[in-house]
Amino acid sequence: MDGGSGACARPRLTVLSGPSGVGKSSVLAELRRLCPQVFYSVSVTTRQPRPGEVDGEHYHFIDADRFRRMIEAGELLEHAEYAGNLYGSPWAPIQEALDRGVPAILEIELQGARQVRAAMPQAQLVMLMPPSWEELVARLTSRGTEDPAVVSRRLEAARSELAAGGEFDEVVVNSDVHTAARHLLTLVVGSHTGA
Ligand code: 5GP
Repeated sequence: MDGGSGACARPRLTVLSGPSGVGKSSVLAELRRLCPQVFYSVSVTTRQPRPGEVDGEHYHFIDADRFRRMIEAGELLEHAEYAGNLYGSPWAPIQEALDRGVPAILEIELQGARQVRAAMPQAQLVMLMPPSWEELVARLTSRGTEDPAVVSRRLEAARSELAAGGEFDEVVVNSDVHTAARHLLTLVVGSHTGA
């Protein structure tokens, strides 16, 4: 697939999930390079920005009050609490992309993926898996941006996320970022024509 506009023509919603540290951000960055036309949903979160994260680009960083108001106003397609912070996907930009015929991708955790499945059964759920559990532990520990308590909460969450692999339509193994991104791209722009 060459990433030209023809490759990105079919509107489809893809949910990418996978444990923290598996490399979702790197794979998505490579996917954007291969196919910039895909719409990448920017989530809202109550988590504090990490060094280098840009508001409006990596996340919309908001406080818990604003998050609650968005839930009440029905502005979120899905939302979840993860490792002590709230995360959610604003619904309007996703719908606009699909209405324009642009494939959309959400990078979210398991509870959110389940909500999308319930709300939009035609969405495609993709799980990004590490090559091994040991590799995941190594990646998460070496990131060095979180304290050990946070890392252990994330590893705990990772176990249950990986155990839910059977609920997903497709599994992509992240042994190397480019190969994983190309695999994901074929799924995102696949022949399916639903939402
Ligand atoms: P992080 O804090 O490392 O950026 O993200 C933590 C987890 O939250 C990741 O598994 C990420 O996929 C997930 N996440 C990010 N945005 C959303 C969202 O909008 N909804 C849900 N349910 N999970 C999200």
